[in-house]
Amino acid sequence: MTQPTRDRSAWLHGPQTPCNLEGLEKKRAYHIVLLGAPGVGKGTQAELLCEALGTCHLSTGDVFRAAKCAASQGLTPAMEAALGHMQRGELVPDETVIEMVRERLGCLTCECGFLLDGFPRTVAQAEALEQMLGEAGLTLDAVLNYDLAIDKVVERLSGRRTCRQCKSTFHVVMKPPAREGVCDKCGGELYQREDDRPESVRVRLEAYERSTAPLAEFYSRAGLLVTVPADGSPEEVFARAMELLKQRG
Ligand code: AMP
Repeated sequence: MTQPTRDRSAWLHGPQTPCNLEGLEKKRAYHIVLLGAPGVGKGTQAELLCEALGTCHLSTGDVFRAAKCAASQGLTPAMEAALGHMQRGELVPDETVIEMVRERLGCLTCECGFLLDGFPRTVAQAEALEQMLGEAGLTLDAVLNYDLAIDKVVERLSGRRTCRQCKSTFHVVMKPPAREGVCDKCGGELYQREDDRPESVRVRLEAYERSTAPLAEFYSRAGLLVTVPADGSPEEVFARAMELLKQRG
């Protein structure tokens, strides 16, 4: 049976905004980290996994985006600086991200478990996570690393079209809009993002590989890295990940 989408108030807005856990069916709490280059379909997989496992989708990018929307309510200097980094397309400094996650420790220790997405991104962040979980007597179950050949990622991302208005995404072959160039949801104009052009995609992927290789190595040594081939339909990739998780017990 699928689980209802989790209320992520405490994650998105901080521990002063508790989540509503009413009526939750108690299940095994999975503690999972997701890794995967842009374009491998990690977002879709996160949704499917959360539905099946009843975990919360804890994305650090989402926390920053929520903070950006709530900017008028007054941000800490560290958060203001973080949003500046984010806007320039840079990574936010480790201390800021780690502090932000530490403030949300309740989400990591939540009875629903978690699916961390976008954190950790560096070995320093991975070590901090290990320490935070250790203090709570928890360990990770697995680090799912979605893997797709570079040419496939280029094919997926360079076919992507984004709505100028509502930011919904389509794909010229895999998920075409009903009318070419027009968003199905709001009628806005669809365009190709600058960083979705094949040349930019290759540069982004190389940068991702460089920055993530040490992290994958860290988790591989810890015996936690589970490589999930990310070719095929979203359902096929999801079934593969579930099977791999089942094998780990
Ligand atoms: P994402 O949605 O995961 O791509 O994150 C969007 C942006 O938020 C990134 O480009 C970074 O600027 C920032 N960010 C999110 N998570 C982290 C992290 N773990 N470490 C550093 N920066 C992060």
